[in-house]
Amino acid sequence: MANKTDNREQQLVEQLLGRKTTVPFTVKSRCVDGLPQTIMAKPVIFEKNIYKPFPSFVWLICPRMSLLVAHLEERGLIRHYTEKLHSDKDFRDEYLAGQKDFIELRLAKLDEEGHQNLPEYVREVLSNSSVTGSKDFLQVKCLHCHLAQYLAFGNNPVGREVYEEIGDCREGHEKYLKFQEAKYD
Ligand SMILES: [Zn+2]
Repeated sequence: MANKTDNREQQLVEQLLGRKTTVPFTVKSRCVDGLPQTIMAKPVIFEKNIYKPFPSFVWLICPRMSLLVAHLEERGLIRHYTEKLHSDKDFRDEYLAGQKDFIELRLAKLDEEGHQNLPEYVREVLSNSSVTGSKDFLQVKCLHCHLAQYLAFGNNPVGREVYEEIGDCREGHEKYLKFQEAKYD
């Protein structure tokens, strides 16, 4: 049973997300002022009697970073990083090593949950997809996922460069919070 602090944290996370959370999670990292920044769920979801793989099990909830990352995506940075992964060998090697780490972590977390007897396709997807859930590892797809991996585990150079671009949440962080308290009373 969750204590009072956990409830408050749950509520804060839902306010940041702008909706109820549908799966259990833990806060994985925090912004400079202590607000939850990334959350981590389980890499598998059990829904309507079916196990579903959840390869992007860590995600960004900071509203400032989410907005600024969306602006970078609008500026064409998804394509920029996809091209960089194809053309820059050192960058690609570092990135692929980070994805390998992430997959190992994901499978370890799966076993931790006592899910050794899952349907084969769940383990198959979780063993063969990037942080964005893509089978094509060099297809960047979503900068939010890469940044979330970097903030949570530090092993994603795409996320690192995105972070360097948008910086820490310091001044004016609050103005990005869209609290929807009424919804959760
Ligand atoms: Zn933030």
